[in-house]
Amino acid sequence: MTDRSPSARSSDRARPDVAVVGAGPIGLAIAWRCAARGLRVVVHDAAPGSGASAVAAGMLSPVAEAYFGERQLTELLLASAARWPAFAAELTETTGAAIGYRTEGTLMVGLTGDDLAEARRLWAYQQGLGLPVTPLRPSELRDREPALAPRVRGGALAPTDHQVDPRLLVPALRTAAQRAGAALVPQAVRQLSDVDARVTVVAAGCGAAALTGLPVRPVKGQILRLRAPDGVAPGFRHVIRGYADGEHVYLVPRSDGEVVLGATVEERSDTTVTAGAVQRLLRAGVDLLPELAEYDLVEAVAGLRPGTPDNAPILGPLPGRPDVLAATGHHRHGIVLTPITADLIADLVLGGVPDPLLAPLRADRFGAAGPAGPAMAASGGPEPTMEGDRWS
Ligand SMILES: Cc1cc2nc3c(=O)[nH]c(=O)nc-3n(C[C@H](O)[C@H](O)[C@H](O)COP(=O)(O)OP(=O)(O)OC[C@H]3O[C@@H](n4cnc5c(N)ncnc54)[C@H](O)[C@@H]3O)c2cc1C
Repeated sequence: MTDRSPSARSSDRARPDVAVVGAGPIGLAIAWRCAARGLRVVVHDAAPGSGASAVAAGMLSPVAEAYFGERQLTELLLASAARWPAFAAELTETTGAAIGYRTEGTLMVGLTGDDLAEARRLWAYQQGLGLPVTPLRPSELRDREPALAPRVRGGALAPTDHQVDPRLLVPALRTAAQRAGAALVPQAVRQLSDVDARVTVVAAGCGAAALTGLPVRPVKGQILRLRAPDGVAPGFRHVIRGYADGEHVYLVPRSDGEVVLGATVEERSDTTVTAGAVQRLLRAGVDLLPELAEYDLVEAVAGLRPGTPDNAPILGPLPGRPDVLAATGHHRHGIVLTPITADLIADLVLGGVPDPLLAPLRADRFGAAGPAGPAMAASGGPEPTMEGDRWS
């Protein structure tokens, strides 16, 4: 896509090869990968890292989030998660920054008999796909995490579902991109015609809709941060995803004592924190892990996931605009999908043969009137994502 011949370079020295709109995890990782491959890169963002990543939990959970009807999306999540160990190592080596990458795995648990029955349906589906999900007896569960409530009826281990801290990841990506030569312009882009580059990559999260007309919508998520008393590490090591009296929550322990407890999924575009959501999250969290009641509640915040009609990202050229690539719509999965998105988009910028993984992710798949064509969901169009339907 970009002509890097000597004549092209000498005739056009000042113009960037790539302008990336948006300095969230997706835009910064793309900028890093492109700059590291010798391209002149400029990143535009008035408030780098201020989007969904600023509140995200950072679970890398392709297995626990393998849902019915999302087979192709699951394959993409697995492919990206497989790149995470090398990506994390390279990022830490390049920047010297810790990013909170942890590999203890994820425990999925059910509090009541009904919760366990619901969870088991999903685990059976995930096992049917050949994914590593190991059911555990209650005694095995408590051997792994003694802090779980005695009421928890059962669970399963997803050992390959890991975590990273997005609040450490994004600054590290920014450092890596800048060290590779990318320049940051601290301004928002109002319209694409204001950007002068051979290729423009729109990685603006929810901001992509106004710039491109793509069907990216905000999906609100409220999330809490707690802190273990006296600065000690939380009393559990795995990411815990639980069904608790019908509520779906997750608990993500950080080494510095923080616990992330989330999150609502709401079809709204405000970032107000509501008492009802805080109550539901805390009740479910404390029911699963009673010691949380003694933790400090240090933050209650909401962010906006960039959702698409089929829950999968949009990666590739805008219809009729081969010089403008979309890299947006990562919804609940932008952190886990960061490595693969960066590699696939950098390959496209450099004019490589498009990876077959990109075919179902193209920007024209929704047509003019919304979701249509070979979308990622296996059938039936968009999945409902109403508050309470799924917590993520
Ligand atoms: C509560 C919650 C929990 C989550 N948990 C997880 C999780 O556990 N695992 C996971 O993989 N994902 C999770 N996510 C999803 C993840 O945060 C997003 O998918 C991811 O942040 C998307 O990255 P992005 O860079 O595309 O967008 P964002 O992180 O939203 O960043 C977009 C950037 O673009 C900039 N921008 C916007 N408009 C413009 C413009 N016009 N010009 C210039 N810049 C612009 C913004 O300032 C921002 O810096 C969660 C999200 C939420 C809300």
